[in-house]
Amino acid sequence: MSSVPDGKKLVRSPSGLRMVPENGAFNSPFSLDEPQWVPDKECPSCMQCTKKFDFLTRKHHCRRCGRCFCDKCCSKKVTLPRMCFVDPVRQCGECSRVSQKEMEFYDKQLKVLMGGGTFIVTLGTSEKSETMMCRLSNNHRYLFLDGESHFEVELSRISSMQVLTEESTPEENDIHTYTSLLDSQSISEGGNCRASGMLLHYKPMGSQDPKQLRMEAAEDKKTASSWLAAMHKGAKLLYEARDQ
Ligand SMILES: [Zn+2]
Ligand SMILES: [Zn+2]
Repeated sequence: MSSVPDGKKLVRSPSGLRMVPENGAFNSPFSLDEPQWVPDKECPSCMQCTKKFDFLTRKHHCRRCGRCFCDKCCSKKVTLPRMCFVDPVRQCGECSRVSQKEMEFYDKQLKVLMGGGTFIVTLGTSEKSETMMCRLSNNHRYLFLDGESHFEVELSRISSMQVLTEESTPEENDIHTYTSLLDSQSISEGGNCRASGMLLHYKPMGSQDPKQLRMEAAEDKKTASSWLAAMHKGAKLLYEARDQ
């Protein structure tokens, strides 16, 4: 196998072949751990259609949830990039639907995020703002902000995220969508309003004091807006990954 990129390695698990970072500390924040499989002795029958397992009706474990099903209820093989599987893996009906939805994030939004957008960035309550290019790093772990200066925000250190829409103005403090990655389970959809900015709270490396970062779409509003919408989708996956 010559196609393993630098810094990655292939590992074989009972579920299939996975390509993971050599150093576990570099796992993508969007990634999920493999589930524990429900032990064979604890599942005499399919957990979906309750058909009893025997010589003819064999057990299959869903690679995403680890539950036990008959072939009919767990026959779909679907790609599962969040668990770093190289090939599509067997999943139950419920999980395959979730995984198929996530594929859109991997196929589209992740590329938009890595492509970047231009924003007017204000740090903290400073009066000064700077036009910066913001993009997601290739390993998905950081937001890189580049202008006159450079700094980065680690995704895992973001404690809250608000997406601002065109209708809302900072003065009114009318925030259409509020996404608290750590505190709130419910993340509302952005609706039809175009995202125009984002307010982040994060803890810089080595600090417990949250900092505020405000980003507003600069000249290319369309690209910036797609970037924000992609970030909003990503936030849901991040929350889910942390919630495990
Ligand atoms: Zn079944
Ligand atoms: Zn499942």
